[in-house]
Amino acid sequence: MAWHTKTPAPSTGPESSGLWLTCPQCSRVLRDQDLATTLRVCSSCGHHLPLGAAARLRTLLDDGRWIEHDAGLASTDPLTFADRAPYRTRLQKGSALTGLRDAVITATGAIDGLTIEAVAMEFGFIGGSLGVVGGEKITRAVDRSLAQRRPLVVVCASSGARVMEGTLSLVQMAKVSGALGRLDRARVPYLTVLTDPTTGAVAASLAMLADITVAEPGARIGFAPPQVIAQGGARLPRGFQRSEYLLEHGMVDMVVDRRELAPTLARLLRFLGATPPDAGASDPPSSSDRAAADSPLDLPLA
Ligand SMILES: [Zn+2]
Repeated sequence: MAWHTKTPAPSTGPESSGLWLTCPQCSRVLRDQDLATTLRVCSSCGHHLPLGAAARLRTLLDDGRWIEHDAGLASTDPLTFADRAPYRTRLQKGSALTGLRDAVITATGAIDGLTIEAVAMEFGFIGGSLGVVGGEKITRAVDRSLAQRRPLVVVCASSGARVMEGTLSLVQMAKVSGALGRLDRARVPYLTVLTDPTTGAVAASLAMLADITVAEPGARIGFAPPQVIAQGGARLPRGFQRSEYLLEHGMVDMVVDRRELAPTLARLLRFLGATPPDAGASDPPSSSDRAAADSPLDLPLA
């Protein structure tokens, strides 16, 4: 099975028959099979289609291999929350759709021989929202990065805070930001890649705290939805909250085509001082490996 078929498209993605996709930007009909070679970028107009977290790691990490950490962590529904559907049902649906137990994958891998700690967000799991589990997994990734002095690369794809966890989800902004502050003081490189969409609490915390902030073309990046801002009477400029607009106004450092992302990140990591590990220091990671530290549910909330 090709990698791109393993990760179902998010519900907000383009129309798909399973074999064919219609590009939402230029309406060209694209073969799903061909999108594997273009990393799900439209070959006609360059529109970047959604990419799941696992597929993302396969496109970025050497040989598509990594060691995953904390894959067993899952929310306990601390507020026993329900709106149109119980939160537990949403968790089960997210898991069935993505094969994950939460919206964040954390991993150790390498980009062009440079060992990194990586985080990828899965929009297909409750909109990539950041809850207690996601915050804990990212904080642990930061701690590993700090302990090993390995660069941290986070690929964001999120609607924001996990509202079903209320204040507990909002606390994750401070928790992750505090950890990233420790990483910054230790001068360990931190890169973010902002993909469509990067909004809400994630945009307001970890997404914008990197040494270098990279964005994919056309990605929506911002805190509040444009329609909410417009309710206050503001006239929004053309391209508002898109990557190119943010680049023009100094909020991101680079806009990079997904097909050039891995070599670009490698150059940036070297620019920030990353070097390959000593030869023979450790075996290369395997995608079948699981970190022995996978732990049961025992999460501090902040
Ligand atoms: Zn297109």
